[in-house]
Amino acid sequence: RPHETQSKFPSLHAKFHILNKLGDGAFSTVYSANNLQTGAKVAIKVVRRHEMSPSQQACVYKEVCVMNMLARAPHTVNLLDFIDSDPDFFYLVLEHVSGGELFNRIVDLTYFSESLSRHVIIQVADAVRHLHAKGIVHRDIKPENILFEAIPFIPAPPGSESRRLSDEPGKKPEGHFRPGFGGGGIGLVKLADFGLSKVVTGVGTHTPCGTVGYAAPEVVRDELYTKAVDMWAIGCVLYTMLCGFPPFYDDDIHVLTRKVARGEYSFLSPWWDDISPDARDLVSHLLELDPRKRYTVDDFFRHPWIVAGLNSSTISR
Ligand code: ADP
Ligand code: MG
Repeated sequence: RPHETQSKFPSLHAKFHILNKLGDGAFSTVYSANNLQTGAKVAIKVVRRHEMSPSQQACVYKEVCVMNMLARAPHTVNLLDFIDSDPDFFYLVLEHVSGGELFNRIVDLTYFSESLSRHVIIQVADAVRHLHAKGIVHRDIKPENILFEAIPFIPAPPGSESRRLSDEPGKKPEGHFRPGFGGGGIGLVKLADFGLSKVVTGVGTHTPCGTVGYAAPEVVRDELYTKAVDMWAIGCVLYTMLCGFPPFYDDDIHVLTRKVARGEYSFLSPWWDDISPDARDLVSHLLELDPRKRYTVDDFFRHPWIVAGLNSSTISR
């Protein structure tokens, strides 16, 4: 199978050996691969150029441009190379992030402890701080686009009362967690997928995009929107990590859209019963309906629940 795949991508031949598929998107497939010269493992996002209109192809150049602007940020996936010499495909060569999607780890663990949730969200917000400082809005922050470096961890034994990872040192299997990494097998966290990101001017932008469950009210109501949409999405991700399900959900897309537009969510009992008032307070400031009152990334880093974790966190400042 790998050789079959390999032969479809002429420009990769000399430099890369494709290993396996990591993910799929509307116009792209991501593979893991070895760099034949250095031996380094990479991820290659193969974009089906031949299926795209000229304006869609222009978006790929924009994605590359945004990634180049963020080259020095510690919590965004690094673009190592961009190949556009094939008529049928674009290739984005990315650093390989070993643990894959945060999404799958939430599914595996059911939900995260407060310290693990904080460990993750601080790093996502750090990525967003770099983006926003450069006037870039990501617009598609969700657990599928948040990747992590895997570190060893031992999950709770099956049938144990709660699958929740413990915050208590006594219950933590010592030696299996790297100090300062919050446990849960999640090391360095990196934001991926800049395909929808956009450089915004002061006035904001209007193009509807993103995924409805994590889209901000002003997005689904089709109003002008700004950097605040990323902060809303961070609120959705934090909510989801803490309890194991997203703040806005419905099988019917119209009902879901209405709930988001009205900011209709709640801290459902019993799932939220044991979660601290500080954590809830931060979530509620991020899931603030009015984008002008919603927490900015600077507000986020000043919140007590975040400040409490900054000493032991892994982010670079
Ligand atoms: P799309 O625009 O198609 O959503 P993404 O950039 O989000 O493309 O990549 C799709 C999926 O591929 C991701 O959700 C993830 O599972 C996987 N992936 C992408 N980049 C990497 C990477 N650098 N390392 C590991 N897995 C990756
Ligand atoms: Mg994606």
